Amino acid sequence: MIYFWGTKTVHRKQGYAADLCPICRGARPFQIFAVKHVAHFNFIPLGTGKTVAHIAKCMDCGIRLGVELEEYANLQKTKPHDIGSLIANTRPYLVQDYQDRLEIERLIKNRKLSEIDAETRSQLLWEPFQLIEPWFLNRYEETKIDKPTGIGCLGTLALTCFFLFILDIKPGSLSAKIAVGLVCTGFLYTIISGITANGRHIKTWIYPTLARSLRPLLPTILELQRILDKLSRDVSRHFRKIKADKIMEHIHAPTQRTETLDARLTKDVNQLH
Ligand SMILES: [Zn+2]
Repeated sequence: MIYFWGTKTVHRKQGYAADLCPICRGARPFQIFAVKHVAHFNFIPLGTGKTVAHIAKCMDCGIRLGVELEEYANLQKTKPHDIGSLIANTRPYLVQDYQDRLEIERLIKNRKLSEIDAETRSQLLWEPFQLIEPWFLNRYEETKIDKPTGIGCLGTLALTCFFLFILDIKPGSLSAKIAVGLVCTGFLYTIISGITANGRHIKTWIYPTLARSLRPLLPTILELQRILDKLSRDVSRHFRKIKADKIMEHIHAPTQRTETLDARLTKDVNQLH
């Protein structure tokens, strides 16, 4: 018998807290996770594991940020219903903690971009690329199965089991040929879906997330191209897959953002005082 053992990384839910989201540019509810290294034997976890970091996931845009638990007064255990009370319960000094940042966000919100100096503007343009970087590159370093690929894989397995064990199909019959055809189609769909998964991630999450953060800064295509060129050269060639013109398309597209969060759960920078 073959045995597998070692450690695996798992994310364990800890609770909820309010924080400033640099992508949404406002106070947002975050779900907090402990990142743990857990020993396993044949993929069965042994014990609760060792906490190595904490991450906070914005419940509005989905960006995940590394955080220190000490930054929060408390974590709320129940799902938040109101950002005001979440701030009071979990991060009461949010305005003081982000005073300088909120001042910049106020200028952006009031379209006073000319009052932002060149160095700060450059940092603001770089920021969303730096925030998405680990989650973007992670997909090329590890095999990630997204929803369509997972559905294709499970569907093909279910079809195969159904034809093999439930239907009594005679070899060489028309039913057997149809069954083989269906399983092959499922297999092909799963392969194609797996190959195109990273492209889908760029289209459905990377472009909208970058556009959401960059839109109020009114960037030029040249500014974005310079950032992408530097990232492709100095960080990873995978950044060539992100196209400046596509980001611009998303920036200028009418915002199709579906309000996933209730207005009570989002707070604009101007409302934070
Ligand atoms: Zn956000």
